[in-house]
Amino acid sequence: MPIYTAPLKDQQFILHDVLRIAEQADVPGYDELDRETTEAILGEAAKLAENVLAPLNPVGDEEGCKLENGVVRTPKGFKDAFDQVRDGGWTALDCDPEYGGQGLPYLVSTAVGEMFSSANMAFNMYQGLTHGAYNAIHAHGSDEQKRTYLPKMVSCEWGGTMNLTEPHCGTDLGLIRTKAVPNDDGSYAITGQKIWISAGEHDMCDNIIHLVLAKLPDAPEGVKGISLFIVPKFMVNEDGSLGERNSLSCGGLEKKMGIHGNATCVMNYDGARGFLVGEAHKGMRAMFTMMNEARLGVGLQGYAQGAVAYQNALGFAQDRLQGRDVTGVKAPEKAADPIIVHPDVRRNLMDQKSFVEGARAFTFWGASLIDRSHRAHDADAEGLISLMTPVIKGFLTDKGFETTVLAQQTLGGSGFTREWGLEQFVRDARITMIYEGTNGIQSLDLVGRKLGQDGGKHVMAFFEMVKTFIADHKGQDADFDKQFLDPLKAASKDLQAAGMYFMQNGMKNPNNALSGSYDFMHLFGHVCLGLMWARMGWAAREALAANTGDVEFYETKLATGRYYMARQLPMTGTHLARIQTGAETVMALDAANF
Ligand SMILES: Cc1cc2nc3c(=O)[nH]c(=O)nc-3n(C[C@H](O)[C@H](O)[C@H](O)COP(=O)(O)OP(=O)(O)OC[C@H]3O[C@@H](n4cnc5c(N)ncnc54)[C@H](O)[C@@H]3O)c2cc1C
Repeated sequence: MPIYTAPLKDQQFILHDVLRIAEQADVPGYDELDRETTEAILGEAAKLAENVLAPLNPVGDEEGCKLENGVVRTPKGFKDAFDQVRDGGWTALDCDPEYGGQGLPYLVSTAVGEMFSSANMAFNMYQGLTHGAYNAIHAHGSDEQKRTYLPKMVSCEWGGTMNLTEPHCGTDLGLIRTKAVPNDDGSYAITGQKIWISAGEHDMCDNIIHLVLAKLPDAPEGVKGISLFIVPKFMVNEDGSLGERNSLSCGGLEKKMGIHGNATCVMNYDGARGFLVGEAHKGMRAMFTMMNEARLGVGLQGYAQGAVAYQNALGFAQDRLQGRDVTGVKAPEKAADPIIVHPDVRRNLMDQKSFVEGARAFTFWGASLIDRSHRAHDADAEGLISLMTPVIKGFLTDKGFETTVLAQQTLGGSGFTREWGLEQFVRDARITMIYEGTNGIQSLDLVGRKLGQDGGKHVMAFFEMVKTFIADHKGQDADFDKQFLDPLKAASKDLQAAGMYFMQNGMKNPNNALSGSYDFMHLFGHVCLGLMWARMGWAAREALAANTGDVEFYETKLATGRYYMARQLPMTGTHLARIQTGAETVMALDAANF
């Protein structure tokens, strides 16, 4: 059975030593987040993640969901666990107090979300989807809609879903066929089929509030003609009680590679009553306003699977006895040394560890920018997180999946068998690279939209930030300069050169940019993690100098950072070289010759 231990110390380090949240007094709510407060909140979340959610992860995988007479039964234990999550107030953490939320910063729910996701990703998606639907209604719903739906969604008595995908369209939503025809009473009759709807039907909530993209009869062609509707499973009476069943149903459950504990549903809408959210034909815009959070949430899922996989790989590497340390026997009393003595096993573990800790810092930083943009109305923070969102989603899920595979490799054959649980992490992580916009689409968003947004202002601000960090810290410690700042500077130069290549060559042939966009997303991701490691390295160095705490923890942090800078960051050179070859070799074949 796999283990899970919540990374409380590391989370606290990022919140307080690196991001120094309590000092960000201009972000309302951060001033209340001192070490003791976050320790108390995250400590309680950790207990739930470790003791309740993690043990259910293999159960959910083994049992899966079952559709019986139109009702989806979640795996044994899920409902009880969901009640505990709900009763503990964990679904309401960062929600608006006006609707029963606790009003805590998004950063806090991000830290909790990592733990819940590592412990049981399929389970946590029920709450995650509800939160996404809550956000959409909160941002775009009418006052009446907010009053009607939000309090029960905040408490997760009612679930929520996002219905975009149809059998013939996923990426290209301009093609959707689901229709919304106005009724006499101001509601709409929604007819169509949606597929792969996560948490579309299940037995853990009294009602499910579906958010459905559909087209009005007079809709313009393409994505400009899409509207967003609330379509409840049960109608809600004026007094808030549940009324008649709406004409929608779950037509089937997908058989799939992973996240078996989460119901992936075919949803049929047969003239179901729906209510327009926001303006007609502006549904895609409404969806886009929540994109940063939703995509950060998926990036988080990616590294969270890597994090739990790494923990299990580490435990195995410390116990498994095979071969001897070539530089001298380490466990003479045993038949062989633990495999962690071998450099190749260490390389593998260091790749995992340095990615997971860097990704955690990157995601928390992203969440803090979302807080800054929402709570302090900081347009620069909004621009920066908008730029980095496809990087967080695409890079962290690619690397998170890769980390689960590396962790599986650490276990040899045991990684392939079911008993140790590693193969489940691999299977569960895989979907993060696909949904919420495939990673290929993330890279197109980054290069095609985000780089040039507001005249390139945000990417320039990013470069400036890296430059300023280097300038502010240079010359104080020759080792730090050499180990952290110089590699960061070189990687940042590679990123700038790639941007320059697109500017000079993308105009004459857009394929030159599109052929390099995936490499660019990874190049950017490495620079972001390089920046995070430089910031973490500096924070660890300062803590050591101040003699404030756990010397071993800070020295380990520095050593892990040195590894990332030396062994991972140079990948930027390879990505740049690939980008600079342009579209020629990528596009050389006729489609018929593949
Ligand atoms: C388990 C699971 C859960 C899901 N949950 C939900 C949910 O809750 N709600 C929901 O609405 N959807 C959900 N989805 C759907 C998911 O978001 C889509 O699968 C995803 O967006 C990709 O769409 P698609 O599968 O139709 O792929 P396609 O759009 O057919 O794309 C196929 C391939 O072509 C590439 N491609 C497509 N267009 C372009 C282009 N213009 N340029 C370059 N490359 C391109 C893509 O990157 C991809 O690799 C879920 C899917 C799964 C499997």
